[in-house]
Amino acid sequence: MVFSNFNRTFVACVWEESPSVSIKGIFPRNQSLFFIHMVYFCYIDESGTPDIPGNTSHYVLAGLSIPVKYWKKCEQDITGLKKKFSLEHAEIHTGWMMRKYLEQNRIDSFENMNHAQRRHEVEKIRKTELFKLQKSQNKHQYKQTKKNYRQTHAYIHLSYNERITFIQEVATLIGSWTFARLFAECINKIHFDPARARQSVDEQALEQIVSRFEQYMKIVSKSTKDGKIYGALIHDNNETVSKKHTALMQKFHHQGTLWTSIEHIIETPLFVNSELTSLVQIADLCCYSLRRYFENNESDLLDRIQSRIDRKNGKIVGVRHFTESGCPCIFCASSP
Ligand SMILES: [Zn+2]
Repeated sequence: MVFSNFNRTFVACVWEESPSVSIKGIFPRNQSLFFIHMVYFCYIDESGTPDIPGNTSHYVLAGLSIPVKYWKKCEQDITGLKKKFSLEHAEIHTGWMMRKYLEQNRIDSFENMNHAQRRHEVEKIRKTELFKLQKSQNKHQYKQTKKNYRQTHAYIHLSYNERITFIQEVATLIGSWTFARLFAECINKIHFDPARARQSVDEQALEQIVSRFEQYMKIVSKSTKDGKIYGALIHDNNETVSKKHTALMQKFHHQGTLWTSIEHIIETPLFVNSELTSLVQIADLCCYSLRRYFENNESDLLDRIQSRIDRKNGKIVGVRHFTESGCPCIFCASSP
């Protein structure tokens, strides 16, 4: 795992919990280790735009919490599934994988070809298409098409049904991780008034996730009588998100309103390269599943992961749908 931003206490926690993790080179040799009993990683990702109105009705921020001692198992589970679909070197970008690639329909007997033949045929059509667009001087479409091709390149050897099956199997796998907890804030922007909320969509979402993650660790701490439980928020290291979340965390910290009750979360968020960490890609899948449920009424993926949503006395407390009153969705209907 590569951290672009970390604090030493945190690295020490990883060392103690998971001595097999290689952290050579990032932890100073003479630094004394600070031992902590239990650590959680909460992988954060977003789906939809926080802009109002933006081109999506919902903005979803989700966090998947995994006890550090299960981190390796999770990575291995995902690697195993990826291998089955010849996706060893690919990132799981659920949104891009779930699209239909029209070129595949234009290839006779695509389903009967092996992976190399499929790739060859799709690339042939794509190259021809790009060449045509370049000649037509339609710069916007050329750029857009090139981007679409780049984002889906790793998956073109799989048919639409195979890609859906892969994502479904990943979702079922997440559902089987009984040690994981899912937290999310899902904001219907049509009903969000920044003046009334006194904060932006982004701020509200991150504040909610932080509060719920903290609440979860407080309960674990109480039930296990272990005060030394700590969690770290781990974000995708893309420039927009990392800048935004660092600024927001600093704001929460300086205002003190939220952080006065934060006892278990390490203040500095960590940023990882999602190409190297499957679990950020898994948080992306969770966000996608939630947004499709709210925007398209699709529940297949959500049904597979919903057992991981944090609950208290059977009621959902880990995921909130911020919207008008009287919403019939499973989250509003189940809210305490
Ligand atoms: Zn609802």
